[in-house]
Amino acid sequence: MINCPKCSSEALVETPSLGNIPLDVCPGCSGIWFDKGELEALLKQSLGGTPADLELLNSRAGSLACPRCKNKMSRGGLVNPLLLVDKCEACGGVWLDANELALAKKLLGVSGGSSEVKVERPAAAPVEPPARDVKILLIKIAAGIGALLGLVGVSLEMYLYFSPAASVSHAPSAGMAIASVLLFAGGILVLNWGKEDRWS
Ligand SMILES: [Zn+2]
Ligand SMILES: [Zn+2]
Repeated sequence: MINCPKCSSEALVETPSLGNIPLDVCPGCSGIWFDKGELEALLKQSLGGTPADLELLNSRAGSLACPRCKNKMSRGGLVNPLLLVDKCEACGGVWLDANELALAKKLLGVSGGSSEVKVERPAAAPVEPPARDVKILLIKIAAGIGALLGLVGVSLEMYLYFSPAASVSHAPSAGMAIASVLLFAGGILVLNWGKEDRWS
């Protein structure tokens, strides 16, 4: 992964959208990075086999650092003195600003194809807040206790129901039995809730 030489915090996104040549495009400023040979290949493809001389014209020291090897790049004309681009003399890569691709095509008489390459920032990996996990854990524990109480309630009511009336201190209650069953069922339901998709 390499960062944009202009907006240093922005990581370039690889896209195959120009011909079949993979390009590294900045989602922030839409500048394009061509590794050594990629721009030559693109120009050859566009110009129909004409070998392109990519020595910069009127080359001078530029202000941008190469995103690959961090050397200061040179600024100069690419093929045409009007087409000012940044080139790394160390690794042979070329940086085009967003508008320079359109200018390059105009100056080189290349028609067709896109003049602009846009990419979206890759979506950041979703980070689940730990607070939510703790909350879910507490709810699950409460549901577990509820289910257990419900089970004990049901058992108790069954015990009361089937025991001889004289040997128990309380009469079985249908209301208590139903409440216990509901508590147990509700607890189990909450315990299983969101098992597939983690509540998202
Ligand atoms: Zn950028
Ligand atoms: Zn370089």
